Amino acid sequence: MAKIAEIIAKSKKPTFSIELWPPRSPASEAKLEQALPILEKLHPTFTSITYGAGGSTRERTHDLVLRIKRETSIEPMAHLTTAAHKKSELMLILERYRDAGIENILALRGDPPLNGGYLPNGELPHAIDLVNLARAVGEFCIAVAAHPEGHPDSPDLETDRRMLARKLELADMAVTQFFFVAEYYFRLLDDLDRLGISKPVLPGIMAPVSVKTLERMAQLSGARIPDKIRERLYRAGESAEAIRAAGVEIAIELSEELLKHGAPGIHVYTMNEASTTVEICRGLGLG
Ligand code: FAD
Repeated sequence: MAKIAEIIAKSKKPTFSIELWPPRSPASEAKLEQALPILEKLHPTFTSITYGAGGSTRERTHDLVLRIKRETSIEPMAHLTTAAHKKSELMLILERYRDAGIENILALRGDPPLNGGYLPNGELPHAIDLVNLARAVGEFCIAVAAHPEGHPDSPDLETDRRMLARKLELADMAVTQFFFVAEYYFRLLDDLDRLGISKPVLPGIMAPVSVKTLERMAQLSGARIPDKIRERLYRAGESAEAIRAAGVEIAIELSEELLKHGAPGIHVYTMNEASTTVEICRGLGLG
């Protein structure tokens, strides 16, 4: 059995999973090569592999997903975005995964690149359209993105929740955008429950290990950074290592609270960095 939603449903303890990026340069390839064996030893339930929304990582995402499946003990979940693609291209990508025995897809709309630029339109406007397409192509376990604080494009939180509920009705599970206040996640679950949805929602955890990166990613995702998180990072001082340690501590505290109140597991945004992820996993007693 390699369908993640089924593994989560049957797991007697919280799951621990990770997100990886396909490398974009020889240096980032070397970083991933170093990190992968260390991360594998944590026995993550699965790893999701990101996709460049403009299609820029089409082959690299595919190759990394297949390599993880073939050469490691970790189950891969392939991210795929509707942005920039024709329906026929998305079908080809999904068929190729199906034929290679890949069982888990994270269906997304996509975002503009972190370093600026715009999001090209695809033929399918929303992630829910990709969920429908993936269902037609194969017997995938399909995950979708959830935004605890609401998606920045949404007119209001209630509308976003209704859209998410419709998407999750068709999908098998969700993984959230990162956030720093446990209450946002609990409110999301309450709202979904009210809308009749009880599928697993894994909280996405990002250790805030650099103030600059954090501000940039929060701006893009719409995640609010509470003053006390910013202050803790500034109080850690100038040393990158001290800031990293404070970030790990923040991630562990948040994860503990989420797990204590029933989150089915934790999904860590690793940024392809092993040491931070190992410390979070061990700190939670999950590795
Ligand atoms: P959608 O579900 O399409 O929602 C986008 C907006 O449209 C929301 O405001 C929603 O309320 C609204 N909406 C949804 N359905 C409808 C509808 N039927 N009618 C009208 N409005 C609707 N980006 C990447 O480029 N590559 C990645 O690999 C990647 N991985 C991610 C992983 C996770 C876990 C998360 C949380 C995000 C990830 N993202 C990634 C970012 C994601 O692509 C963006 O957040 C994007 O802006 C929205 O994606 P979505 O799938 O939630 O879109």
